[in-house]
Order: sequence, then C-alpha cells, then structure tokens
Amino acid sequence: MNAKTGETLLKGLAENLFLPTASLSYSNESTNEQYPLASQSDHTQALDAITQLLDKHPMLKTSLIAVGHRVVHGGESFSESVLIDDLVIDAIDKTSLMAPLHNPANLAGITTAQRAFPHLPHVAVFDTAFFQTLPKHAYMYGLPKRLYKEHSIRKYGFHGTSHYFVSHRAAKLLGKAIETCNLITAHLGNGCSISAIKNGKAIDTSLGFTPLEGLVMGTRSGDIDPSLPSYLIEHLNYTASDVTTMLNKASGLLGISGVSNDCRELEAQAACGDANAQLALDVFCYRLVKYIGSYMAITGPLDALVFTGGIGENSALIRNQVIKQLAHMGLALSESANNTIRFGKSGAINHPNSLPIFAIATNEEWVIAKDAYELAGASD
Ligand code: AMP
Repeated sequence: MNAKTGETLLKGLAENLFLPTASLSYSNESTNEQYPLASQSDHTQALDAITQLLDKHPMLKTSLIAVGHRVVHGGESFSESVLIDDLVIDAIDKTSLMAPLHNPANLAGITTAQRAFPHLPHVAVFDTAFFQTLPKHAYMYGLPKRLYKEHSIRKYGFHGTSHYFVSHRAAKLLGKAIETCNLITAHLGNGCSISAIKNGKAIDTSLGFTPLEGLVMGTRSGDIDPSLPSYLIEHLNYTASDVTTMLNKASGLLGISGVSNDCRELEAQAACGDANAQLALDVFCYRLVKYIGSYMAITGPLDALVFTGGIGENSALIRNQVIKQLAHMGLALSESANNTIRFGKSGAINHPNSLPIFAIATNEEWVIAKDAYELAGASD
C-alpha cells in the first residue's frame, strides 16, 4: 500500500487456515488469482506463501519501506503503535493469555515477516490502543478491584483501528477538527462494536475484556446475563469450553436464526418469510438501538452517528430498521442516500432535518500503513 495516498498496490488474503481447503488469493489492478495452500496450512505457512508471491513483483518488493502488523491485544502496555523490538514481542506474548486466538497468530506473522524482511522496520498497530483513553469509570467492571489490580481484568475494547479511521473521516466530512467532535461509531461486520467518542477521544466501547461483550454479532452472543455460564455448567452438562465455544461460534445471528451468520443471507431469508431469520435481524437492531441511545447520553451533543463494517457500509435495510427506532432522538435517514451510499462509497445518509448520519467505508490497512510509514521514518 502507498501509505501517503492509501492506494492498494497488492492485496492478499489467506483463508481456511488449519483446514484442507486452506487457500491464498491475491489481487492488484491486473490480476485476481487464487492458489491452494498446503492442506492444514498455519499462519506461518500462509505468510511464507505471501512473501514468496512478492518475488513475482520485484519492483514492489524493493520499494517496501516498512511492514505494519495488526495486533489484536495490546493490554494496558500500548496506547499507540510502536516499532517492534524484543521488548514489544515479549509484551505481546504476555498478553496472549487474554487473546489466545489472536495474539499467538499475530506473533507468528511478525516473526515470519521479520525473517522474510530482516532489513525493514516492523511496526505493531494495536486494536486496543484507541481505547486506552477510556476513563476508569468506563473500563472498570463492577467486580472486586483486586481482579483488575492483580489480573488486569477490565474492559479493553477492540476494532480500535477501524473506529479511529472512521471517526477521523467523519470529522473531515463535518468540516470540524476531530478534537471538537462528539461521535458514535458503529462497526458492524462479522464482529460488531460501537464506540462513544467525546472531543475526538474514545470514552466507551461495547467490546470488553474479550471481543464477546456488547452487540449481537455474526456468531457471538454479545451481552448476556453473567450467571448463564454457571447455569449451563451446573444444570445442562456444559463444560467451560462448551460454553466458550457456544458463546463465540454458535450464537449471535447464527444462533438465533439457525440459518446463517451472514446478514445478506438473513435478509434474503427474512424477505421469503423465514421468521427465525427476521427475529435474528430484529434482535441485532434492537440491541444496537439500545447502545446508540445509551451512548447519546454520554457523548453530550452528538455531531454524527457513523456506520461502518460489512453490514454498516452495505445494509440499507439494517440502517433503516435501526434509525427508524431513533426518530424521537433526532435521527432520520434520507431514503435515497441510504440506498446509494453502499459498496465502498462513503457519505451522509441522513435526512436534511436529522443529525448527521454517515456510512463510511473503513480502511484499517491504511491506518496500519500510515503508522508504519511514520514510525519507519522515526527509526531512520
Ligand atoms: P465484515 O466482517 O466487515 O467483512 O462484514 C461481514 C458482514 O457484512 C456479513 O454479515 C455480510 O453478510 C455483511 N454484508 C456484506 N455486504 C452486505 C450487503 N450488501 N448487505 C447486507 N450485509 C452485507
């Protein structure tokens, strides 16, 4: 990626890792190709394949000036992006306990890329960093304080890179300095989160100690009664690991509908009269409406509400169902803008009499590239 312009020069995606169908797709202006990877390929093998692909693009390879790495959990150690050294690797490793599915994979990516590009600076960009501005009263749970002091149990928040990008974009669209903006940003994809931003700084967010709290997501439950896991274990023969798997992989849109975690599929099935698909969409929207209302209470006078992520950027139906329920709070859509601003477009979708509502195509890669570029400059 060109860090200055955000132009994507080459894009790759490794999918179905640890499965027989592991594959790598890559595209640029002139190519769109997919390769099978060795069956059961892991992150290291996928990254090795990606670096080999770069050999086919020698001009691009020699023009690289830094490698940016998305790291899911930075704990309380990182409130901004950093150049990666042994101490940083150690800190990411120590945080793996809190993000066992993500941080070890991120570390595998870092070590593989460092081996492939030993001469380049490597930069870690943390999904949690944007939320290090949360005040204590927002990140503390109502639990014994020693759990925070001794075990770092608190709300961290995730998807920070996306919330950062769209909040800055929204400020530009408003023609205001970010430091003067009160915003609510809703990242609605397979994972979903919503953030309250006051004077440009995150003051609350829905994902918590892990990326399970908050909104209803594709396969994750979001908020539930905290007594439910012990009820399931004591009375319904679940193990702790069954509960974790159920809450993360078999709940949310998929669990309620029994049909799919994919919003497009649910919209199609609901239109054909599938009551469970409709119920899943209704629960999804209702939870979102409740969060928007509660965040309007804490941001103070709102400058804009922002939708992003695969659902937020594309689903005119979800945006409409949500905003209809918020009419009494000064929010209304322009039907034509809501139907037009989709599929990579960004812009205002509100009615002229409403507070501003934006749909903004997120670009986490650009944030990572910009931070990597700036920190690489600092390392000269
Ligand atoms: P993400 O994780 O950001 O890639 O978002 C994935 C989610 O976006 C899935 O639930 C998709 O069904 C949803 N999505 C993508 N395009 C559309 C669309 N045109 N209409 C509704 N949902 C969509």
